[in-house]
Amino acid sequence: MNKSRRSFFQRTVSLVAASSIFSSIPSFAFNTQGTKKMKMTFRPYTLELKHVFTVASLSRTTTPVVLVEIEYDGIVGYGEASMPPYLGESQESVMAFLKRVDISKYGNPFDLESILADIDSLAFHNTAAKASVDIALHDLVGKLIGQPWYNIWGYDKTKAPNTTFTIGIDKANVVREKTKEAVGFKILKVKLGKDNDREMIESVRAVTNVPLTADPNQGWKDKFYALDMIHWLKEQGVVYIEQPMAKERYDDHAWLTERSPLPILADESCQRLADIASVKGAYSGIVIKLMKCTGMREAHKMITLARANNMKVMFGCMTETSCAISAASHLSPMVDWADLDGMLLIKNDAFTGTIVKEGKLVLSDEPGIGVKKIG
Ligand code: MG
Repeated sequence: MNKSRRSFFQRTVSLVAASSIFSSIPSFAFNTQGTKKMKMTFRPYTLELKHVFTVASLSRTTTPVVLVEIEYDGIVGYGEASMPPYLGESQESVMAFLKRVDISKYGNPFDLESILADIDSLAFHNTAAKASVDIALHDLVGKLIGQPWYNIWGYDKTKAPNTTFTIGIDKANVVREKTKEAVGFKILKVKLGKDNDREMIESVRAVTNVPLTADPNQGWKDKFYALDMIHWLKEQGVVYIEQPMAKERYDDHAWLTERSPLPILADESCQRLADIASVKGAYSGIVIKLMKCTGMREAHKMITLARANNMKVMFGCMTETSCAISAASHLSPMVDWADLDGMLLIKNDAFTGTIVKEGKLVLSDEPGIGVKKIG
């Protein structure tokens, strides 16, 4: 084929492909130049946990969240900010941030890149607050297009992974009971980092033989202890380790990763896209969470950058409703592992959406992030 014919052929193929995609999109979705305006509302909501949840640093029975709605042309997108204490945000700080967001000034909801960059520039940190707007906008845009985000991104939703179910630190008998309740999960995550690491694993192993992951949440103080423990954990069927030591100890993590028989993932050390440059070489991979990284748009970029740097990717969560968990699940077909069990740990979920069936994430076919409000 000569150059001009090839050029014509490529143009024709592109036009056919574009028209077949856009023919399925309602025409009103692109009419964004009129008088329609986006409107945002939000309210505090307190998640009640099924069990007291203990990690290396603290215990808690509730998690504060803020639920967000962005309405445009009669269609509503849902978002959520979840604030575990260690990120330093509260319902008050999130709502104070959201009051500063004038969503009505953005004329085109499809302009996610500009809108979200502008909102990010309003303040440092406030990552959960920013994530709540990001999720609501993605839900809205998906609904305007009439497609779920896994389709928009081009992911096969049947490739969504199994999710871990998390067993918090507790006494041996309680850990055995919690493990029994986790029947059906194909992989479990065990919190470590206090003074009973071996007892925790042995209590879980007394009940089940499924693969495990371990998360000391920066709780290990000594790199030699960490290396010995990781060798023992590998013998116990653990497949990766999250954040063994304090987040600023890059050199010690590099030492550990070089010698570890298991992948070492940066969680507290890696919050946003720019952090990948800092953790590259010190860790085998990263843990992405919407509440750390400001939402779906940056999470998508983090997966791409981590992959380009040959790093593993795990998608994690906070204690969240099915709103934020469903949003995260649309990216899950692209990650190595998922820990998206936050909605299973609470008694008062405010949404239905992505579910866990026989341990695997199952995404709904609804547009946007695929959630429906309860009540
Ligand atoms: Mg972690």
